[in-house]
Amino acid sequence: MRVILIGPPGVGKGTQAALIGSRKGVQTLSSGEIFRREIEAQTDLGRLAQRYISHGELVPNGVTIEMMAKRLRESEVRKHGFILDGFPRTVKQADALNEILFDMEMPLQKVFWLQAPDELIVSRLSGRLGCTKCGAIYHSVNKPPTREGFCDVCNSPIVVRSDDQPETIRERLRVFRESTAPVIEYYKDLGLLVAVDATRDAEEVYKEIIRETD
Ligand code: ADP
Ligand code: ZN
Repeated sequence: MRVILIGPPGVGKGTQAALIGSRKGVQTLSSGEIFRREIEAQTDLGRLAQRYISHGELVPNGVTIEMMAKRLRESEVRKHGFILDGFPRTVKQADALNEILFDMEMPLQKVFWLQAPDELIVSRLSGRLGCTKCGAIYHSVNKPPTREGFCDVCNSPIVVRSDDQPETIRERLRVFRESTAPVIEYYKDLGLLVAVDATRDAEEVYKEIIRETD
């Protein structure tokens, strides 16, 4: 499988990426998740990324592309393909990805555009909780963990992401319209785009994505 999940923040890209990754044994490359790990490990890249992420802005293209190129070239990806979540987010990143995949002789199969109205996105994001260790995603109302404050999968603490504050959510939606919407057009022009109704529950969305790629 060689696919991209694209869509506004909070639409469920991370949830789908995790589902497909675990059930189909495909490597998930989530740029946001990779950045969060770098931040936690307090690397130079993490420190740089944090400055942008905390304001809801995009991390600069150069470092983002370099980081994702490195991950894509790993052997697991060469063997089983990839699910990209959160990358590419700008046309520059999409161009760079084209080159990387061309070199690897791993052409894209499909780009899934997950769609949902703003109200739904804001309500999903404002109750969202994430595991500090394994990245599992919960929601205070829609999907609470069995034991409050702790991950069902690995028992680590779950927290509200610092960029899930209302101010930052608004900024991320603005950035999505400005920088990422053109990427959707880009893949539409290449004939790779598949629009998916992401207001349905995760299992339904999952089934549709699998149906389109199997
Ligand atoms: P969401 O899709 O819910 O906004 P992500 O976890 O994908 O969350 O991303 C969190 C933040 O990480 C983004 O707001 C942005 O600051 C940064 N980021 C993630 N992917 C990219 C990317 N491809 N280019 C630039 N910045 C990125
Ligand atoms: Zn966990």
